[in-house]
Amino acid sequence: MSKRAYNFNAGPAALPLEVLERAQEELVEYQGIGMSVMEISHRSAEYEQLNAETQELLADLLNIPAGYKTLFLQGGASTQFAMIPLNFLTSEKVANYVITGSWGKKALKESKLIGETRVVAQPEKFSHVPDLSELQLDNSSAYLHITSNETIEGIQFQQFPNIGDIPLIADMSSDILCKPIDVSKFGLIYAGAQKNLGPSGVTLVIVKEDLLENTPDHIPSMLRYDTHIKANSLYNTPPVYSVYMVNLVLKWLKEKGGLDQVEKFNQEKTKLIYDVIDESQGFYVGTVEKQDRSIMNIPFRLKDEALEKEFLKQTQENGFVGLKGHRSVGGMRASTYNAVPYESCKALSEFMIDFQKRNG
Ligand SMILES: *Cc1c(COP(=O)(O)O)cnc(C)c1O
Repeated sequence: MSKRAYNFNAGPAALPLEVLERAQEELVEYQGIGMSVMEISHRSAEYEQLNAETQELLADLLNIPAGYKTLFLQGGASTQFAMIPLNFLTSEKVANYVITGSWGKKALKESKLIGETRVVAQPEKFSHVPDLSELQLDNSSAYLHITSNETIEGIQFQQFPNIGDIPLIADMSSDILCKPIDVSKFGLIYAGAQKNLGPSGVTLVIVKEDLLENTPDHIPSMLRYDTHIKANSLYNTPPVYSVYMVNLVLKWLKEKGGLDQVEKFNQEKTKLIYDVIDESQGFYVGTVEKQDRSIMNIPFRLKDEALEKEFLKQTQENGFVGLKGHRSVGGMRASTYNAVPYESCKALSEFMIDFQKRNG
């Protein structure tokens, strides 16, 4: 087999090799039924089983309490930016947003189109999560929206704010399942699959059912959470193959020992790279304050920015993929999602040390 790249793509991103191989084995014939998963009816017993099992795997891995429903929707996390205010931001209410980077701003923009919306915290520079311990939200609040991990800026919430009865809503597109979380703190969690869950095409939504009583009548069926809940995520044709791939990824995470273990692996992986940055005496520059650094996306610069092009060119020549920072911020970014192996991070840290020796 040809050698796999050191894949640091930001999204769509690396998938576990074991998962790809299992999918390959089952590609033309799934579980002895004489056809591929792509060819079965979404109303078949096989898909019903896959749908239910994937929901159960998530409930198990994330310890989802009773009263929550899991949905596999389409339209990406970007559609959730609109669905959230459409379902929860009723006329007499205000939506609250904490902005810690680029994706939060996009979510905010959609909410403003739909109703009264305010920013309750936003640091001057996207280098840390603002202190939310004193945050007071009044009763007119429809919800508080946060982005648990800002994929472009590499800023990750280490703990979540306590806001009483007001629903906390989180975009976890780039850090879902990277560590254990307390789902009971949230009214709704959503994540596009293509960073940490599987291929693109499916968006995971975990929602507390009792929040959905006030969805206004005029909201179209496909954009209502209650439509999808009533139909158990089978209102229209779901992205069957993407859900199948998510199912395999979840089984892989369970085999790894669950989220406590996964968090440990992620910390070990990212430490390799953060240590090189911190010990480089300023040759490499991290852009996030240490306490809020992400274990999923590591953005960094070179002190000599003119050298960055050469750095990126040489990483490409050495089998590394996806290290160019997002075009809006420049520099470099290593995305180290669950499926990125330790060996890739080890190879990158060694390359970085060597590059500094040659250019420092
Ligand atoms: C990638 C990403 C999105 C956008 O996801 P789509 O599925 O492409 O709509 C939103 N939020 C975060 C945090 C992301 O990383």
